[in-house]
Amino acid sequence: MGTRKGSPPFLWLPCLGLLLGSSCRGGENGGDPAGTAEGPQGGTWDVLVLNIAWPGEAAYSREDLAKEMEALASFIGANSSGRVSIAYDVTSPLTLPNPRSYYEAEKSDKNAPSTLMLDAMEAAAAAGFDYTKYGSHILIPSLGPGNNGAHGGKVWLSGLGGISLWSHEFGHSLGSSHSNGLAPDGAVVEYGNPFDNLGKGPGSTGHFNVRLKERFGWLSDSELTTVASSGTYRIQAHDLPIAGYPAGLKIRRDDASNYYVEFRQTTFSADDPGNPFVLDGALLLRGFNDWQYLNPTFSPQQSLLLDMTPETPLNWRDAALGIGRTYEDGAGGIQIRVVGKGGTVPETLDVEVVLSSTPAAIDRPAVVRFLVPQATTDSFSGSATFVVEAHDPDLGMADGSGIATVVLEIYNVKKEVPVRTSPPLAAPPYSWTVNPPLGRGGYVVLARATSAPEAGGQFNSLGTFFLVPGP
Ligand SMILES: [Zn+2]
Repeated sequence: MGTRKGSPPFLWLPCLGLLLGSSCRGGENGGDPAGTAEGPQGGTWDVLVLNIAWPGEAAYSREDLAKEMEALASFIGANSSGRVSIAYDVTSPLTLPNPRSYYEAEKSDKNAPSTLMLDAMEAAAAAGFDYTKYGSHILIPSLGPGNNGAHGGKVWLSGLGGISLWSHEFGHSLGSSHSNGLAPDGAVVEYGNPFDNLGKGPGSTGHFNVRLKERFGWLSDSELTTVASSGTYRIQAHDLPIAGYPAGLKIRRDDASNYYVEFRQTTFSADDPGNPFVLDGALLLRGFNDWQYLNPTFSPQQSLLLDMTPETPLNWRDAALGIGRTYEDGAGGIQIRVVGKGGTVPETLDVEVVLSSTPAAIDRPAVVRFLVPQATTDSFSGSATFVVEAHDPDLGMADGSGIATVVLEIYNVKKEVPVRTSPPLAAPPYSWTVNPPLGRGGYVVLARATSAPEAGGQFNSLGTFFLVPGP
């Protein structure tokens, strides 16, 4: 184990969802995020909706698509506490060079419909829509049931489907994988969080959890309290407008992860009106730090809901820690007890945290991050250059600290084998130019950094998706 210096870096790293074959809601594929941005994410986001007109079928009306976008804008506005406002354009109906069946054939698992994206973007350009102005915020509702996913921030949707679906896929485009459950035996339950639209959330009230809001840059330091000492803390329901109380607690578990404590008051659906467990309790989540993402079990894009009542058959519906109950993590030296509601407007919850010991340090794997291309620069013509920064956080934060080699590989998403591989790069700058150019299509580039043996030799890697619009 290396000597740990400094604090963990605050990096936003794309996951390997594509290569690892993450599956998504309603038969999605993909799930690799675009986000590598740091810090709060606010302002006006311009979203382009590409309206595909399949031969012999009516295109969606502009009104139908605008209705979906208005709901998405409202959801994102509320989730971001007004930090993000969404503006959108809907293209005129676009005719693509191939029939629907051609693109459907591309949608199988681990296989982005990259030709659909490229053809639709080029058709939009021909119709006068400059898609480059929209960065990664491009939505393509087109292929029909079971066809949802996101790569490189571009989202394809089965079609009109309501806020549960649209917010779920848009959440992927922001750099998150699913809101899962963490079972008592340590197993990750995909979509396990029934309150959050990146799990099986109920729709317009299915706010993303506080770990995701933190990840998206939607909670300031005063809105998410980092618990550094034992005490009783008051939090408000984070699915109501923030009104002077913190929206959650963040409690360091160990070098790899934190607990998050949140409180909800609106996250119900027609199937589950007035869930009393959530109304009168705290939800506990575990969130993993970004460098942890190649852990075979956990990726940092996951936020894992804990079930406080694993003995009951209600599964995740009664996951909350009720008033008067205590959760104890002996190894972590952490006790969390729900004291009671505050009786305020908005409603609040008082939570007592007792910290009794500090878990031992662990050997952290290398950190690797793309500098070029940046998150929103995901298409190339001609040769492509990739530049990666890597370091071992146990040895230092400078590029190259404790790193033996960096290798970059480009995968054609159809074939799942590298189509190009860099020589091992022994020192920064970890830069690699691909020439001759790649053919038209979608690719994943994977950067694999290995720590020096004296730093533990652990490796870490990350992938990012990009499109080549060439011939
Ligand atoms: Zn999904």
